[in-house]
Amino acid sequence: MIVVFLGPPGSGKGTQARELSQKTGLLHISTGDLLREAVKKGTELGKRAKEYMDRGELVPDGLMVAMIEEVMPPEGGFILDGFPRTVAQALALEEMLQRHGKELSKVVLFEIQEEDVVQRLSGRLTCSNCGAVYHKVYNPPKREGTCDLCGGKLFQREDDREEVARKRFRVYQEQTQPLVEFYKRRNKLISLNARENHRLVSQKLLEVLKDGG
Ligand code: ADP
Ligand code: AMP
Repeated sequence: MIVVFLGPPGSGKGTQARELSQKTGLLHISTGDLLREAVKKGTELGKRAKEYMDRGELVPDGLMVAMIEEVMPPEGGFILDGFPRTVAQALALEEMLQRHGKELSKVVLFEIQEEDVVQRLSGRLTCSNCGAVYHKVYNPPKREGTCDLCGGKLFQREDDREEVARKRFRVYQEQTQPLVEFYKRRNKLISLNARENHRLVSQKLLEVLKDGG
């Protein structure tokens, strides 16, 4: 199964992708995590991507497509979390999958409003070591400031500050939202109410993936 998670930043894609990956063995590919790793390591890609990420803008399509080409596994299913984010990326993905004799199974749309997303992002805590995600109110760690999974230090992402979060939401509306129509036309889209609590969303997600929506 090859699944795309589509939705605004903060809609819960990463949280659900991690859990689904643990439950099913599907590989979780988060372009945001990969980029942050590249920035941390100071690679050429990281250096070029950082300025866009800090401003809440999208990293150019060419860089993103090359990155996905590199990490796409030859065998087995995967979840794409945060890619594609533009029509150009979606077309490149289609071409790439076709070339490898693969097909996209489903695209899950995480539906949520701007105010909910800003609240979620402004309370999001991320582990500096393993990338696990928490929320100050909705999903607090057992010990303040410390990751339950690996003991790493938790921090607030720079781009989760309110003004950058709002900018990222606008960027989503302008550049990524057209993918809703794109995938509807291809009969791949399943919508999910992402405002529900974590447990309900994950239950619903399993259901829609099982029966194809
Ligand atoms: P995305 O990957 O779409 O940017 P995340 O999975 O990182 O979103 O979630 C954003 C924030 O919202 C995190 O702090 C996370 O703990 C919290 N969160 C995720 N799902 C829910 C939910 N169903 N209800 C409340 N908060 C949630
Ligand atoms: P995320 O962790 O998914 O919220 O992504 C963080 C940032 O990484 C985004 O604000 C973009 O700057 C960049 N990014 C992640 N995925 C993509 C993508 N598919 N295309 C362009 N930029 C991306």
